Amino acid sequence: MSYIKDIINQVIENNPGEPEFHQAVTEVMESLQVVIDKHPEYIKAGILERIVEPERQVIFRVPWVDDQGKVRVNRGFRVQFSSAIGPYKGGIRFHPSVYLGIIKFLGFEQVFKNSLTGMPIGGGKGGSNFDPKGKSDGEVMRFCQSFMTELYRHIGADIDVPAGDIGVGSREIGYMFGQYKRIRNSFESGVLTGKGLIYGGSLVRKEATGYGLVYITDQMIKAGGKSLEGARVVISGSGNVAIYCAEKVAQLGGTVIAMSDSNGYIYDSEGIDLDTIKQLKEVERKRIKEYKEIHPRAEYHEGTFSIWEVPCDIAFPCATQNELDEKAAKTLVANGCFAVAEGANMPSTPEAVDVFLSNNVLFAPGKAANAGGVATSALEMAQNSMRYSWSFEEVDARLKSIMTNIYRNISTAAREYGHEDNLILGANVAGFIKVAEAMMAQGIV
Ligand code: NDP
Repeated sequence: MSYIKDIINQVIENNPGEPEFHQAVTEVMESLQVVIDKHPEYIKAGILERIVEPERQVIFRVPWVDDQGKVRVNRGFRVQFSSAIGPYKGGIRFHPSVYLGIIKFLGFEQVFKNSLTGMPIGGGKGGSNFDPKGKSDGEVMRFCQSFMTELYRHIGADIDVPAGDIGVGSREIGYMFGQYKRIRNSFESGVLTGKGLIYGGSLVRKEATGYGLVYITDQMIKAGGKSLEGARVVISGSGNVAIYCAEKVAQLGGTVIAMSDSNGYIYDSEGIDLDTIKQLKEVERKRIKEYKEIHPRAEYHEGTFSIWEVPCDIAFPCATQNELDEKAAKTLVANGCFAVAEGANMPSTPEAVDVFLSNNVLFAPGKAANAGGVATSALEMAQNSMRYSWSFEEVDARLKSIMTNIYRNISTAAREYGHEDNLILGANVAGFIKVAEAMMAQGIV
């Protein structure tokens, strides 16, 4: 373990003030001792030293003018982490909490997630500390145009293909694509994914992360002798991942009783009306507490991440990193929750994960459970290359089969490496080996 510990210590030393990145690296590295024991050649080739260092990091100024004519300046990032198995691929996040450490943790996670999809995509991530909340469409457009005016130099269909993430949905992707096309004077549809359907987007991409999350959860809980049918479900967040997770849960017979945003959560014992959530969040961009105005039977509770106090059978954290801590995990367990599947990236703290594993809660880690989004982005890239579109049913069937394969591969890896019920270990190991083998084949680059 001392070799692995040295790697972790080096990362902490070389990347000061980036706790989320340290956390993501530590979790993966601690899983890899079993792999290193079987493959000492990885040590000689410096695979671990190289895999924790991004291939390239770009930081840039993003100036724009607000509706009052005031000049504003944000910071933009793109971290191109690994191109071992394909062009860099990963979303762009716009949120005031964004700084280099967040983008590096997300880019690092993305390397293994993308490998798990079985598609030829490397790992990267980008973003800005820009807050789209409360901004007009004009302000968001001007910001996106300025962001792309620098980013375009670093991306391309065979180089790096960004997509959405927190604060970046179809509106933002549309503005960024428009600016890229204008600068390049070329309609390169494969340069961004999550595009609108009428200009190169893929059916099911919008739904993919949430649907995929539920497909893999369904497999995991069936293997554990349980069912989604009749389950009471709590989902944090009310963004892209949360909404389509809720839609698929309802289709498979579960009842979603609570959802949240960064101000608080709503509890509706009869089951949340998803059309109201979609109208409030996707169309009107309002706060979730407005739900109570439309459905007075519901309760609204203030407080970020207080949603975990709602008793449930299955919990889907779908908001952001470290939103579910040890106390919340203990509350979920005490209330009888039997499964947790991560829609967000790294939503459970390491202490929370320990609580779940030691209480035999079925646990699907984000890098496997939310991989349906990027997998469908890769399907969007394939359709763009063919200049052809598949039907909703065709893409959905492919997504389902990708999630089934991920579940099979991570549970097989967990078993093979001696930790049958630990899908975290399975996901880290299965994701890592493919990237490591590609790095071995390509020499010291
Ligand atoms: P959205 O911006 O669509 O929604 C995010 C939701 O989470 C909102 O309800 C938001 O509340 C809440 N939230 C975000 N940040 C915070 C915070 N710091 N504190 C409290 N609440 C917060 O994002 P997505 O649904 O796209 O992403 C959610 C998670 O899923 C992220 O971790 C992302 O990395 C991950 N993910 C997304 C994929 C995708 O395809 N979109 C793919 C794979 C993973 P509010 O509106 O109040 O800010």
